[in-house]
Amino acid sequence: MGDGGDALAVDPPPGELQVEQVGHAVDALKVSGEQAAVITPWEVSGKVDYEKLIRDFGSQRISPELVQRVEKATGMPAHRFLRRGIFFSHRELDQLLDMYEKGKPFFLYTGRGPSSEALHMGHLIPFEFTAYLQRAFKVPCVIQLTDDEKFLFAKDASLKFEEYVRLGRENAKDIIAVGFDPELTFIFANSDYIGHMYSNIVKIQRLVTYNQARGIFGFGDSDNIGKHGFPAVQAAPSFSSSFPAIFGEKSNLPCLIPCAIDQDPYFRMTRDVAPKLKYRKPALIHSKFFPALQGDDAKMSASDPNSAIFVTDTPKQIKSKINKYAFSGGGATVEEHREKGGNVAVDIPYRYLTFFLEDDDRLDQIREEYSSGRMLTGEIKAELTSVLQAMVSKHQEARKAATDEVVRQYMTIRPLKKEQ
Ligand code: ATP
Ligand code: MG
Repeated sequence: MGDGGDALAVDPPPGELQVEQVGHAVDALKVSGEQAAVITPWEVSGKVDYEKLIRDFGSQRISPELVQRVEKATGMPAHRFLRRGIFFSHRELDQLLDMYEKGKPFFLYTGRGPSSEALHMGHLIPFEFTAYLQRAFKVPCVIQLTDDEKFLFAKDASLKFEEYVRLGRENAKDIIAVGFDPELTFIFANSDYIGHMYSNIVKIQRLVTYNQARGIFGFGDSDNIGKHGFPAVQAAPSFSSSFPAIFGEKSNLPCLIPCAIDQDPYFRMTRDVAPKLKYRKPALIHSKFFPALQGDDAKMSASDPNSAIFVTDTPKQIKSKINKYAFSGGGATVEEHREKGGNVAVDIPYRYLTFFLEDDDRLDQIREEYSSGRMLTGEIKAELTSVLQAMVSKHQEARKAATDEVVRQYMTIRPLKKEQ
């Protein structure tokens, strides 16, 4: 991506859109403390300080009280991602709950940029969480495949546009495999659906200046013009009128967007234009990044295959990646480990278990055993290996059932079942 990130150091002229926290998406975390971190929708690197992110992005921390409210409103225990602070930040989730409690439903919106054939565990996090929210609140969900974005932003210009379209449909199978309700879920590819939301797209585009787009997203002079226009395409599905066949043109249904925190710049822009269009601002709920096998300093990333467990990996590959690459907080020798115990603050097998081991009691037990040195590194790795092998093979089974015909059904423009 380009590096024109400081364009909005100059105040916009009066009457122009005031984008809250302008430029922070690009600049906020470039230099923080001892190590530089960069968080943009296209790049995540360095050690992320999530508390600082909340301050810089101007979002809210998810409090234990808010988690309790979700449990009360849904009559279901909170998802482990919520119980364990993996979804850690939000915008106006409390107001969305106020409305829900008064009988006003909402819809969920999330998405995927189809840049690779196989998803990794990090990519599944927003989808698993969104599917839980759908089950818990019994609300419709729209899922955007940004094949246009991946084409416009590709560093490697060798892939044809049609290839991104194909990848989108392939990725849709993985998304469906996570377990979305077919009667409540609409998956759409921008390459195909864009005409239906074009009136919202142009309305948004007219409200965001070139300078603002550069300030928020860091585009530079040599970035293509498609990139500059794209943010409006990701913003548009936040408004229910982009889905007339589902919600009807007039309704102004509240929207909740679960996503990883790096996607927030898009929705800060969206929330700024919303009142000018007399639309509701979407609410957001943000996740942390799933760390690389090598440790918490980097996110799991498809471009570094050794950092990632893919949903296509075999049980043997999973076992060998964990044994070979998973950063250990254990002692250097068995004697040292027995004496000092393992450090769960940096131990990747333990961190991964906090994401994927459902049983709270078992997780507590592992933490105690491992930090006291009774459980060895090889044992915690074996525990993680069996959890991930089971998850991945369940996913692979579910994906087999997501045939081209099933994808077609999810992607058909149609009214969804009445919510609630
Ligand atoms: P790359 O190697 O280019 O980073 P990737 O496939 O890991 O490839 P993207 O394709 O850029 O990552 O990911 C798209 C989006 O998926 C990200 O913007 C982010 O919101 C989410 N995502 C990717 N990796 C993770 C992760 N480890 N944890 C949580 N979310 C992630
Ligand atoms: Mg990427």
